[in-house]
Order: sequence, then C-alpha cells, then structure tokens
Amino acid sequence: MKVALYGSRGRVGSVLAPALAAAGHEVADADPAGCDAAVDFTRPDAVEANVLTCLAAGVPVVVGTTGWETGATDEAARAAGLPVLYAPNFALGAVLMMRFAAEASRVLERAEIVELHHPDKLDAPSGTAKATAALMAGETPIHSVRLPGLVAHQAVILGGTGETLTSRHDTTSREAFVPGVLLALERLRGLPPGVTVGLDALL
Ligand code: NAP
Repeated sequence: MKVALYGSRGRVGSVLAPALAAAGHEVADADPAGCDAAVDFTRPDAVEANVLTCLAAGVPVVVGTTGWETGATDEAARAAGLPVLYAPNFALGAVLMMRFAAEASRVLERAEIVELHHPDKLDAPSGTAKATAALMAGETPIHSVRLPGLVAHQAVILGGTGETLTSRHDTTSREAFVPGVLLALERLRGLPPGVTVGLDALL
C-alpha cells in the first residue's frame, strides 16, 4: 500500500516511517496524491486540515493525533464516502486497559484516572484519558502529569469499600504504536464512511 505519512519527522512518525516500510508499505511524505491511505501523527491544530486534504483527494485516513474535535471531519468523510479511523491510543495494551477500566467501573463505586506523559505533549488531559473516562460509568476525574523521563502512561484507580483496583498501562517505547497502526491500515477500507473512534472497533 502507498501511504502518505503526515508527521514523519516527529517522535512517533520517525518510528512509524521505517516500520511501515519494513511491513512492505511504500511511505510518501505529507501528500496524498496517488496514495491508498494516509496516516497523521502531527499536532492538534494541524490534523483537521490534513485529513480534509486527504478526503478531498479520495484517500482514507488513520489518525493518531490527539486533542482535536472530530465533528467537521466526520461530516466531510461521510460526504466523501470514505473512512477515517481515529484512535487516541494505538498501543494494544492500552486498548485492553481501557476495556478493563470500563468493565470495572460498572462494579466498583468510584474511580480516578492519572495520565502521565513527556513534557512536550501539547494536549492535557490526554486523548486516551478522555476516551477512557467516556467509556466508564459515572463521572471520572482525570489528573495529568507532565515530566521528563516519561513516555505515555495511564493508571485507572478504582475504589470500593475496603479495596482498590488499579489498571495501568505503560508505553516504554513508541514502537508500541506500530502494530495498531498496521492493523488500522489493513482494516481501514472495511470501515463505514465517517470517523470511527478507537482501535477497539478493529480488535
Ligand atoms: P511531535 O514529535 O511534535 O511530531 C509532530 C510532527 O508533525 C512534527 O514532525 C511536525 O513537523 C509535524 N507537523 C506539524 N504540523 C504539520 C502539518 N501541518 N503537516 C504535516 N506535518 C506536520 O509529536 P509526536 O509526539 O510524534 O505526537 C504527534 C501526535 O500524536 C500528538 O498529537 C500526540 O498526542 C499523538 N500521539 C498519539 C498516539 C496514539 O497512539 N494515538 C501515540 C503517541 C502520540 P515540524 O517539527 O516540522 O513542525
């Protein structure tokens, strides 16, 4: 597949570019012309314009960029009859952590989320934390930590009478996002037109 990669020189993109090539894809820079699909790991203020450009060129998109609203893109993708998959977290273990947290929140009475990331992350709370809270029962407060030495981490702490349960995921290397992005590219064309949110839809 020929893939336009937006953000190829970024922290995630620079890991993704060689991994996509190693998986047999042809990687093009940020230009959808002649591409079968596009992937965006850029910035919250850049992603929408990039995706709209791809849709106008008839190219479906996999989006990892967090901190943006998908409404206008969803409308454009439906109108174009093309799928967009937006996953706030492409790490397979993070998807499982979100599932476990959602299930546990229906049993234990209260929960809080602590998300921890490197200090250059532009959005807070993280897209993963917001998506996790949306899946859980009740209102779940989110705490954001930004420190050197961190990559991307999240703990969901649930409390009941006399007990706590913690579901925690740690991304120790950005290689963690590669299998999820490859899976998304493989399944993208089978998704309905519009924005599908979450890798869960593909697992
Ligand atoms: P980063 O290191 O800042 O990289 C972003 C890259 O995007 C930079 O190379 C930047 O180029 C480029 N860029 C900026 N505006 C662009 C535009 N209009 N068109 C094309 N490229 C553009 O950020 P990162 O850590 O890789 O993270 C990127 C995004 O992915 C963030 O939103 C982050 O939260 C998200 N993320 C998602 C996941 C997930 O699993 N979904 C995992 C990790 C990170 P310049 O430096 O030249 O401006």
